[in-house]
Amino acid sequence: MFVDSHCHINFPELIADIDGVIARMSDSQVEKALCVSVNINTLPEIVKLANTYNNIYASAGVHPTEKLTSNPSTDYLCELSAQNKIIAIGETGLDYFRTEGSMDWQQERFRRHIRCAKEVNKPLIIHTREAREDTIRIMKEEKADNVGGVMHCFTETWDMARAAIDMGFMISFSGIVTFKNATEVKSVAAKIPLDNMLIETDSPYLAPVPYRGKTNEPSFVKYVAEEIAKLRKVDVGNIARVTTNNFHKLFRV
Ligand SMILES: [Zn+2]
Ligand SMILES: [Zn+2]
Repeated sequence: MFVDSHCHINFPELIADIDGVIARMSDSQVEKALCVSVNINTLPEIVKLANTYNNIYASAGVHPTEKLTSNPSTDYLCELSAQNKIIAIGETGLDYFRTEGSMDWQQERFRRHIRCAKEVNKPLIIHTREAREDTIRIMKEEKADNVGGVMHCFTETWDMARAAIDMGFMISFSGIVTFKNATEVKSVAAKIPLDNMLIETDSPYLAPVPYRGKTNEPSFVKYVAEEIAKLRKVDVGNIARVTTNNFHKLFRV
């Protein structure tokens, strides 16, 4: 049994055929999926999905590339996260690749999410891109290790993986690990402690090989597990079991 620790099945590409998406999950032995929030406006859709389908869970948060106008207070985030089946805070973090100008407001929003996570005692889902030093620095300054969480869709260096693991965080790999040119991601996936590993699709984006370029969906998470199993020379059942246990442990489901 697999778990997709990060997807966006409320996005138009997937919601249009949601019953098919859910059916193909069970055909592919994907027992659960965490539908991750990117803004406040669409949070009700996610909560509705989680309330409709037993095996769908939700998070509350605002993606780093969302506009400045969407900057909920720590208190408001905490209030939102009290809804049924919300098991995590995020996705939050820093994305300097897709942002121009001052990063101050992005950093401030990241800090608010960490404070909320600590207050409600729910793990963080962290998105980081071209912002390694600031991400780790803010995690340390805000004592994110008090609550833990996951560095999702990991594409950074071994040093960053190490720093996150030292703070008790998990590292989640997406379909990128199946891409031929993803040498660094493959090497991190081959050597991090299995106790710190999760797998995800980040669907509808980043479909793994052999579906690269197509619409991604939670049932494809098994290809991520298969690639990691190959890299580590272990059975795919082993990766499935460990990452599923890690998911249950981290998100307490
Ligand atoms: Zn992300
Ligand atoms: Zn995402």
